[in-house]
Amino acid sequence: MDVVERDARSARAEELVPGLTAQGVVGFATTFVDSSGIARVKSVPLSRLPQLAAWGAGFSTAFDFFRFDDWVVAPATGKGPIGDQRIIPDLSRVVRLAAQPGWAWAPGERWSQEGQPHERCSRLLLRRLVDEAADRGIEVKAAFEVEWVVSRGTGDEFVPAAVGPGYGMSRLVELSDYCRDVLSALADEGVPVEQLHPEYAAGQFELTVAPEDPLGAADTSVLLRTTLRAVGRAHGLRTSFSPKVDIAGVGNGGHVHLSLWRDGVNLMAGGERAFGLTEVGEAFSAGVLGRLPALLAVGAPSVASYLRLVPQHWAGAYACWGLENREAALRMVTGSTGSTSWAANMEVKCFDLLANPYLVLAGLLATGAAGIDEGARLPEPVDVDPAALAEDVLEERGIQRLPTSLDEAVELFAGDAVLGDAFGQPLVDSIVAVRLSEIELFADASAEEVAAALRWTH
Ligand code: GLU
Ligand code: MG
Repeated sequence: MDVVERDARSARAEELVPGLTAQGVVGFATTFVDSSGIARVKSVPLSRLPQLAAWGAGFSTAFDFFRFDDWVVAPATGKGPIGDQRIIPDLSRVVRLAAQPGWAWAPGERWSQEGQPHERCSRLLLRRLVDEAADRGIEVKAAFEVEWVVSRGTGDEFVPAAVGPGYGMSRLVELSDYCRDVLSALADEGVPVEQLHPEYAAGQFELTVAPEDPLGAADTSVLLRTTLRAVGRAHGLRTSFSPKVDIAGVGNGGHVHLSLWRDGVNLMAGGERAFGLTEVGEAFSAGVLGRLPALLAVGAPSVASYLRLVPQHWAGAYACWGLENREAALRMVTGSTGSTSWAANMEVKCFDLLANPYLVLAGLLATGAAGIDEGARLPEPVDVDPAALAEDVLEERGIQRLPTSLDEAVELFAGDAVLGDAFGQPLVDSIVAVRLSEIELFADASAEEVAAALRWTH
């Protein structure tokens, strides 16, 4: 980033300040998501926005080694505390935070002090992979589903704030004002909400949003969670996005919907392959499916993730795909007859919301692109709950469980050449270091202890 670019960013910020001031904005926050999936923030008084936009705010490079509990996994070099980087907001996505009066936010990107992209910045990584897809003439659209539970009171234990049944109207009645405030805050922020409903688990809700470009979708996922948390606080509720809040129940997923487009045409529909997939749509999906076990180290990034990722919880614990199959890691969604050309997409179900959404989409784009390069083909689709099949049938049909522990996923991730090339070794190394440290931390922990440790962190 040179001085001309910095001047342009500062000028853009100057233009934004009067409008934000008129809307009552006093503070401006910018976030990046670390490899543990936690959004870390710096904020400035609004008058400092031009300075922030041009030169950023300092952050130690040690943040790439932060574990979920703020323990810093010091690299063996001893250089952990040395060095600085700058977080610079992307002013194309400035949002006045509707549930935090006086605040505005924009997603940040990380740059070195010399003005080079920080080698471990997940948003810049995703930006690069989106550009590479565009070079192939492919536009990707994505959306994260958000599932969360609300707990009554501020204590650390989980007390479901609504007791009505899953999908039950009575639950919407119980938290009617809260749900209204969620919708109105998100409308105010321009988040393209499609649906809100009570989900299966105790005190659980789900919200879906329209597909956007990958950067937009990841930003929306961060904004959504910030907003949900803030609305909850205003109602005296605590919000958890953890994959396993209550170990007896179903968890919170972070499913990702993906479609590929070329010249305005959806490549997940209208093709000659199974369920209307085009050749490119199939190859991309096959590239993802083949590397899902390694990708889990990114998309199901915590020891707690594997408490959720079990059969018969609609979490997609098997490395297979199928039409509208909620037990398959890849669920092909065609939409209703008549809507297929715009609605068809591939849903990745096995991921959860402890994941850094930028890294998740970067991993999906990289593995999908590898599938296209390889002309990869999908195996036979699965039209039954794999858990209902006998061991020998699973084996015969080549249907495997996804990794059942973070250890397994991390080992595969560390050895995956496609992800290594796309992410670069420094980023792979820091992700692996943070994961191994969490594995060590929980070596002797019970499921209850793991769930409790992650319940309120993200
Ligand atoms: N809560 C489930 C999960 O852990 C997903 C339920 C659904 O299919 O929406 O992924
Ligand atoms: Mg759901």
